[in-house]
Amino acid sequence: MATPTAPDGRAQLPPVTNIQMVDLKAQYRAMQEEVDAAVIEVIRSGAFINGPAVKAFQTGLENYLGAEHVIPCGNGTDALQIALMALGLEPGDEVIVPAFTYVASAEVIALLRLRPVMVDVDPRTFNVRAEDIAAAITPRTKAIIPVHLFGQSCDMAPIMALAGEHGLHVVEDNAQAIGAEYTFADGRTARTGTIGDIGCTSFYPSKNLGAYGDGGAINTNSRALADAIRKVANHGQSRRYYHDVVGCNSRLDSVQAAVLNCKLPRLDGYCDRRRQAADYYDAHLQGIQGLLTPARQPNSTHVFHQYTLRIDGGRREALQAHLKKAGVPSMVYYPVALYDQEAFRGSAVNNIDFLPVTDVLCKEVISLPMHSEFDEAALAYIVASVRSFF
Ligand SMILES: *Cc1c(COP(=O)(O)O)cnc(C)c1O
Repeated sequence: MATPTAPDGRAQLPPVTNIQMVDLKAQYRAMQEEVDAAVIEVIRSGAFINGPAVKAFQTGLENYLGAEHVIPCGNGTDALQIALMALGLEPGDEVIVPAFTYVASAEVIALLRLRPVMVDVDPRTFNVRAEDIAAAITPRTKAIIPVHLFGQSCDMAPIMALAGEHGLHVVEDNAQAIGAEYTFADGRTARTGTIGDIGCTSFYPSKNLGAYGDGGAINTNSRALADAIRKVANHGQSRRYYHDVVGCNSRLDSVQAAVLNCKLPRLDGYCDRRRQAADYYDAHLQGIQGLLTPARQPNSTHVFHQYTLRIDGGRREALQAHLKKAGVPSMVYYPVALYDQEAFRGSAVNNIDFLPVTDVLCKEVISLPMHSEFDEAALAYIVASVRSFF
């Protein structure tokens, strides 16, 4: 992308039509022949379940993440559920999870009759912090689910130290941050999802590494956990028709794996282009009273699954309407705190019905279009449309 010239906030740029939150069609056009051939190859081979494409993706993702074991599965929610099942948690065990996240992170806890303990997050990075978690630990706490929200890592070193101190499992929800890298104090780096005991990710089509349908994966460096995860995901069976534990059925299908095999080598490029779009937004949305651009965690790269602003003064809905009129889509991730969701009444054990940061974020956040296929005219138009509101 060329170095942009600052658009005048009041300037009337010619409208750019067809701006989308995520542009999957343009991304497909750039690799159409390769994807088409890979999908047709699966169809011709008839190896729809656990075919060579799935095995190739598993190995590819192990290499990409630097993880010992990858277990592909049906979707990101299944990944989280299977991870918790494989840890052998007992009903009533408490699992700490941020209140500001997608529902799946907490849903699986409640579904397994474990108890979600919801905690607040950092107002600038939107991520859960060790200090938020520490205050919620009780003798019944068994696990922590740090969510790398919107594409950057939680500050994992203090979270891992806390987990070590209290003997807690750490399951990273890496659905939004695949490709991000965390740097430890000694300079060592690790991909998000490979720092805790288990990492879980999603290949929902609009995720940074998206399939053409549902998909997910679990990764771990522990052989014992990998075996347990594989077993749970495959009906609890160790060999065919012998079922040791109650499991489930969750698989990445071969067609999705074929698509992901085409996209995985491009993932870092996608993340770079998202970062360039975020840099553009950052540069051109500074100095607006009442608008905060997202903060970047100093010890993590950011892969910008979402580019999320905070708008104060109760003006978010008005900005969203203004953008809509200009043909610029936007989304609110997330409008409701998990503790305010009807589904979790009674299951959240810390009796949380208000967390100050989460409460404010739910009222103030708005995410701008973010993907890997922007041209500069579209970004300039989005920025001008935002600026003309203020
Ligand atoms: C998308 C997402 C999930 C769930 O992934 P699915 O594949 O849709 O089941 C879980 N956690 C977070 C934070 C997500 O963004």
